[in-house]
Amino acid sequence: MANEAARNVGPVILLGAPGAGKGTQSKAIVAHYLVPQISTGDLLREHMRRGTDLGHKVRAAMDRGDLVADELMYDMVATRLREPDCRRGFILDGFPRTSRQAEWLDAFLKKEFFENSETLQPVVIHLDVDYTQLLLRLTGRRSCPTCGRIYNVHFQPPRYDELCDLDGSKLILRDDDREEVIRQRLEEYEMQTRPVLEYYRAQGRLVSVTASRAPEEVTAQIFGVIDSHVALQAGRGTARE
Ligand code: AMP
Repeated sequence: MANEAARNVGPVILLGAPGAGKGTQSKAIVAHYLVPQISTGDLLREHMRRGTDLGHKVRAAMDRGDLVADELMYDMVATRLREPDCRRGFILDGFPRTSRQAEWLDAFLKKEFFENSETLQPVVIHLDVDYTQLLLRLTGRRSCPTCGRIYNVHFQPPRYDELCDLDGSKLILRDDDREEVIRQRLEEYEMQTRPVLEYYRAQGRLVSVTASRAPEEVTAQIFGVIDSHVALQAGRGTARE
């Protein structure tokens, strides 16, 4: 564990439909490699909660389950990635969601991370889950408003009713996890985010992981992908620990 903390991991880009397990797997990566999780959904929800200008601008799109306009995303993401805790690496969860965002991210990382820096090239991991499984995962998802722990009433229910096992808070259903919004989010994914997979696949950068399995099995696969990616770059002399 101490070794994991000491070394560079570089950017980890997690792609997958809503409900594919990006949030759950990001938390496992955070705990293992000690790099921060950058969830654009969480950042946007935080802006809405604080009532910022950006929060007001994105609320309508988010409530409908539509994607937020690309231009509104860039400043927010750039500001977060410039924080010092991202230097050894970070996990991007929920970004990029369109081909334009993927192109923007490549340009941003090239300009701000890879010139005169020790950052490794990104590893792009696709969490692949079939549609029926996604629907069950999304409609059953509940989270604890206090500690953020995620449950699923079908697969991982809390011990008591709809209460958090850790702190007893009443679990909540995210506004955009309502069924009609879920369908819209999955449609947006097919239309806008599938092309992002093609963008990375065409460059030979996409690694797909079968994510319908138990979360711990998926986590083990992801660690394997990240470790070999890091080792490969170290072998090429690009990793400076
Ligand atoms: P998530 O928590 O990642 O499922 O995101 C929730 C909502 O935030 C999405 O349905 C979008 O409305 C918005 N959102 C999050 N990330 C992005 C992004 N990269 N581009 C556009 N909209 C986003």
